[in-house]
Amino acid sequence: MSTPLVDSALDSDPAAVRIRGLTAGYQGCPAVTGIDVDVEPGEVVILFGPSGCGKSTILRAVAGLLAPIAGTIEIDGIPIEGTSAERALVFQEDALLPWRSAQANVELALALRGVPRARRRTEASVLIERVGLAGFARHLPRQLSGGMRQRVQLARTLASRPRVMLMDEPFGALDAQTRASMQALVLEVWSQYRTSVLFVTHDVNEAVLLGDRICVLTSRPARLSAVVDVAKDADASAAVEQIELALAAARAIEPSQSTSSSVGS
Ligand code: ADP
Ligand code: MG
Repeated sequence: MSTPLVDSALDSDPAAVRIRGLTAGYQGCPAVTGIDVDVEPGEVVILFGPSGCGKSTILRAVAGLLAPIAGTIEIDGIPIEGTSAERALVFQEDALLPWRSAQANVELALALRGVPRARRRTEASVLIERVGLAGFARHLPRQLSGGMRQRVQLARTLASRPRVMLMDEPFGALDAQTRASMQALVLEVWSQYRTSVLFVTHDVNEAVLLGDRICVLTSRPARLSAVVDVAKDADASAAVEQIELALAAARAIEPSQSTSSSVGS
């Protein structure tokens, strides 16, 4: 694959993700069934649903870490085969190398992408600065707070220029204030480094803040219960209400849980 090695600030080429009839699970037992999701190039699509419903399972399948039981996953119309650097998975726990500084962790991602040694330092510095860590480049991960490590992880992910970012509740372990600043940061970098995003959360406000579209999942085995479009200039509470209604409707049709929903209509 040809990679333009000019400037880390250049766009990557965001991919189209198409998931059709995805059934995936463990030991042949489905955790998610019949999932259809599209991510258009540059779009941020949220997988939203209760804990344990199968959100991470969908993300693992798209990352190529888990083979589907049924269904297809395509990137720009081509079925995925295993893992690939163009699909970057970002977790809650950072995956930084503890003995490498923030800067060196980012430089490693550039090296893996084939960026010549002479350019890695400058490119890494640009990324470190971009995520608000100028002055901390020489720190080891253990010398940084959880939020700062997530920033390094974001810089490292951007350094690998993914065409799709698969983010699995990346800010779940952060305190509310740090979480808010990370949310603002990802909105900024997503607009700058164009990439498609599939983002998992069970926080409705995070879903509405970050997403262009929100796929609401039922509890396990997850099915798609609704897709909510979020107009950025519209009233966020209207989108929240749509999501809550979809969740309540999904609960109402589940035979095992016929309790009344806590959401008013
Ligand atoms: P979510 O991310 O929505 O919280 P997961 O996708 O992690 O949910 O899990 C969906 C279901 O699959 C859960 O019931 C979970 O217990 C089960 N599960 C997850 N990982 C494994 C695994 N490695 N082996 C067996 N079952 C698993
Ligand atoms: Mg999960």
